Amino acid sequence: MHLARFPRLHLAHLPTPLEPMERLTRLLGGPRLWIKRDDCTGLATGGNKTRKLEFLMGEALAEGADCVITQGAVQTNHGRQTAAIAARLGLRCIILLEHRVTTEDPDYLYNGNVLLDRLLGAELRDYPSGGDMNAALEPVAAEVRAAGGRPYLIPGGGSNVTGALGYVACAEELLYQANARSLRIDYVVHATGSAGTQAGLVAGLEAMSSGIPVLGIGVRAPREKQEENVHRLAEAVAERIGLKGGIRRERVIANCDYVGAGYGIPTPGMIEAVELFARQEGILLDPVYSGKGAAGLIDLVRKGYFSKSDNVVFVHTGGAAGLFAYRRTFAPAAG
Ligand SMILES: *Cc1c(COP(=O)(O)O)cnc(C)c1O
Repeated sequence: MHLARFPRLHLAHLPTPLEPMERLTRLLGGPRLWIKRDDCTGLATGGNKTRKLEFLMGEALAEGADCVITQGAVQTNHGRQTAAIAARLGLRCIILLEHRVTTEDPDYLYNGNVLLDRLLGAELRDYPSGGDMNAALEPVAAEVRAAGGRPYLIPGGGSNVTGALGYVACAEELLYQANARSLRIDYVVHATGSAGTQAGLVAGLEAMSSGIPVLGIGVRAPREKQEENVHRLAEAVAERIGLKGGIRRERVIANCDYVGAGYGIPTPGMIEAVELFARQEGILLDPVYSGKGAAGLIDLVRKGYFSKSDNVVFVHTGGAAGLFAYRRTFAPAAG
């Protein structure tokens, strides 16, 4: 793959570490669990959006943008990472926040990522739940243009072909790390939402003929819809990187059994996973994405989905800043 053909800013902290999780592996009795630390990518506490933003902001600067506009749920990690990169580059940043989770908890509404968005100088605008949030970017862009600005629009989660190139690059990085230490990877597992992470990983691993299956653990949509979203984007990524023959539909696997009552709503499995990773490995997951992804991983391990000798790599997609929005879930006694 020749990713240098695409505009990119090199400001993520790469490569992220690939580490064994020895205590968690022992506790669960195998398979061998590894973690790819994409929570350590940099940009105001890091996460998976940083890799996407390298390509998105590369394109934005190439187009001469002076303002970025994006959207997400109130506790969007993507918005926070976009605010950080915009600050670093001296661009105006507007984030449209969808009130997707019904709550009046002040920690959810004002702490965690929202606190960081404000600290990073982003302009926040509130939207009710359920609208077409990517469509809502357009009138805001028109307003910025009318005032003489040059906006660059980033869809929710940074999940378009350009953003997903960040996870094509991650696939290459992961395979290089595995080959260098003769680690045979049998599965890659991660939380999947707006689809860019899985689409990039699937396309990248396919382009390198790795034969490694990627299992996305859904956090919002039902399985069929999630797999279709990922597959559609993976096909577009394959075309952009010149991968002949596209992506077979069966290469895209999502398990959406761990969503619970809905996006951003805690589940017992998520709480257990966040506590297990913290207490066994000293690693902070998040309540909305990596916590539910890890809940799926742990449950599938217990059900014997993997064989004991498999090497399973969990991609930690970040989000721990969101823990502070869920204080009542993890520290209820504190009031
Ligand atoms: C956005 C996000 C995801 C999901 O990645 P997609 O590319 O949107 O599927 C997973 N984990 C965290 C912490 C995120 O912020």
